[in-house]
Amino acid sequence: MPATTRPALLLDRDGVINVDRGFVSRVENFSWMPGIFDVARTAVRLGVPLVVVTNQTGIGRGSYTEDDYQAVTAFMRERFEREGAALTAVYHCPFHPEAVEARYRAADHPWRKPRPGMLLAARDDLGLDLAASAMLGDKALDLLAGHAAGVGALGLVGKADVSFEGAPKFERFPDLSGVPAWLERRFAV
Ligand SMILES: [Mg+2]
Repeated sequence: MPATTRPALLLDRDGVINVDRGFVSRVENFSWMPGIFDVARTAVRLGVPLVVVTNQTGIGRGSYTEDDYQAVTAFMRERFEREGAALTAVYHCPFHPEAVEARYRAADHPWRKPRPGMLLAARDDLGLDLAASAMLGDKALDLLAGHAAGVGALGLVGKADVSFEGAPKFERFPDLSGVPAWLERRFAV
């Protein structure tokens, strides 16, 4: 296991990297969120690796296949590379309690956000300091997963209602334009 020293920017996919149209399983349906590459390049310039953590229950539900998902992921990674902000790792959780295929069926899989399993796997694989890291999502489950993993700074993109009792503290961004300055504040040395 690598030494746990470096922070990361953990990114949800749908609603942060691409517009969330529900089950985006083909490149043709993948629309970049405005400003995502500014966010990514800012993190990389600050020496902060980019790690995607995405629930992909559509695989378990049988809406699309693992291969469909991997094709979209390859397209996504290639574009981040071309933009000068390569993704260090991409984690996805295909599991769902009512999955069609038995191998994807799990009542409460530890990788499925709001559980923190993907973030903890990234920590162990990449040697991340989660307390020094930031996470950007568009739903309460992203904040909850980040909070459960001990991520030090949580950002929420868009309008999701997270006013429930016990919601973790987070910073709200109506769109991605305010995120680079947030990263500068968080990660500038
Ligand atoms: Mg999302």
